[in-house]
Amino acid sequence: MNWPETIGERWREVRARVTEACATAGRSPDSVTIIAVSKTHPAAAIREALAAGATDFGENYAQELATKMTEVVDPRIRWHFIGRLQSNKAKLVAGKVALVHAVDSASLGAELGKRAAGVVQPVLISVNIAGEATKGGVSPADAPALARSLAATSGIRLDGLMTMPPPSEDPEASRPAFEALAALRDRLAADLGLPLPVLSMGMSGDYEVAIAAGATHVRVGTAIFGVRE
Ligand SMILES: *Cc1c(COP(=O)(O)O)cnc(C)c1O
Repeated sequence: MNWPETIGERWREVRARVTEACATAGRSPDSVTIIAVSKTHPAAAIREALAAGATDFGENYAQELATKMTEVVDPRIRWHFIGRLQSNKAKLVAGKVALVHAVDSASLGAELGKRAAGVVQPVLISVNIAGEATKGGVSPADAPALARSLAATSGIRLDGLMTMPPPSEDPEASRPAFEALAALRDRLAADLGLPLPVLSMGMSGDYEVAIAAGATHVRVGTAIFGVRE
């Protein structure tokens, strides 16, 4: 079939595919949150997706998030910060988003906790599961120490892990990384005695594979909003 034209139709198509992937995996469709990644797209695009039923929106840049939060105000919206975050931008994000997906240092976790101003900020550890030199995120070997540290940091709550595998045309190429992240989560949860329910993994090209591997949050930009400039 042709990929639909409008943001609303594309949202419904992605949602249908997520539902189907959940059914195939024997999971409830409610067990996966679709984050519509709206980075670089205008407020009007977010409103279109919201009208079609999207409620979770992902942004990568702290200043862009802050601007969009003032442009699109709606009680249904949950914002997610999915990009790399510098500590000096933590105040733009802490206490304002449903989830910070990419914490990769104890100092960033501490800054988020300090800036969350009386609320508890849920966070994930970003894991560089394939060991790519150019990527952020901690190595699987360093994840346990960071998890221990974040679990003991006030003002934040460690909810799980996120990863972004090397880009590939073939969705199946991401499967080993997704399965490795799920296995790492299981080990950390057992070792630390924490639930760590969240696995943020899967993007436009591979979210169905991610769901098969246990993703609870998929981050889908291009398939909903079209190609970024
Ligand atoms: C941009 C981005 C996405 C969305 O990517 P698409 O391929 O457009 O779906 C997901 N996660 C992160 C961390 C991103 O930066």
